[in-house]
Amino acid sequence: MPYNSTPYNYCPVCGQTLQETVIDNYLRKTCPVCSFVHWGDYSLGVGGVLWHEGKVLLVQRRHNPGKGMWTIPGGYVNQDEPIGDAVKREIFEETGIRTKPLSLIALHDRPSEKHDAYIIFLMDYLGGTLQGQDEEVSNLGFFTLEECQNLALPSVTLQALKASHSATPGLTLNSKAELLSPLSAIYQIF
Ligand SMILES: [Zn+2]
Repeated sequence: MPYNSTPYNYCPVCGQTLQETVIDNYLRKTCPVCSFVHWGDYSLGVGGVLWHEGKVLLVQRRHNPGKGMWTIPGGYVNQDEPIGDAVKREIFEETGIRTKPLSLIALHDRPSEKHDAYIIFLMDYLGGTLQGQDEEVSNLGFFTLEECQNLALPSVTLQALKASHSATPGLTLNSKAELLSPLSAIYQIF
């Protein structure tokens, strides 16, 4: 019965002192007044592998985590933002390059105090001018695989580059699926 996420003391909805309740064999913080249950802490990130004229777009991280490392561009998904929109937005903000998602090629799952899922897309090049975002990016560019060997790449980026060369297309957006919410989408094998 672990409780590994943020040890909240007060209900974020009504301010009542939270109590501990075992739900489905898992210790949860719950509110005795309103219906709030702290289910956990999660974060959702996206990254995109963009090949253009035989070179891949990489950015050098200005800050930790991964300061100085070269990674595919990406970032966190906003609360109400479809993941395909998030990856386009993050790549444009970080690099000035306009793209569109082709398929979902990898997912990095990292359970910890904040359970992090990082979804990796293969992207298509649309256009734009290479312009790094000063706040987050210290350097950027398009690199051949050979040039990548001289850069410090984290293992997740290496795996993403490998996945981008797979003969299988990954998961693609089913634009014909009828789903309950207009913002919902399903990525699937066809
Ligand atoms: Zn409450």
